[in-house]
Amino acid sequence: MNTGQILIIEDNLLNLELVTDLLEASGFNVRPAVTAEEGLRLARECLPDVVLMDISLPGMDGLRATEILRADPLMQNLTVIGVTAHAMKGDEEAALRAGCDGYLTKPINTRTFATTVAQIMESAKARRSSQ
Ligand code: MN
Repeated sequence: MNTGQILIIEDNLLNLELVTDLLEASGFNVRPAVTAEEGLRLARECLPDVVLMDISLPGMDGLRATEILRADPLMQNLTVIGVTAHAMKGDEEAALRAGCDGYLTKPINTRTFATTVAQIMESAKARRSSQ
């Protein structure tokens, strides 16, 4: 079981609920936000282990929000996972360039989602501690 805290920034409420259920069932402690602005505020407040960042958000998008997170010295070590709506190569590259450690595509695979999140988190932590 995982015990990390995950901040989910997702404006689609059905997706937010689904992802929250999957991650909680896997032992993660979940904090939800529906806009980038709310997510940035919560990230500073709770310093989560992982931010699950929807790239397509109303107002500020997830790429810009990731850049802002990465510019904050307090948040350079957390794991950011971009979530893109389509399996488009350009989106994935843009997510990594903005500072994401990895990305997942929607529609999500409900059987593997929580495990994949945990794997990206562990490999990002291992990479940072070896630097
Ligand atoms: Mn969205």
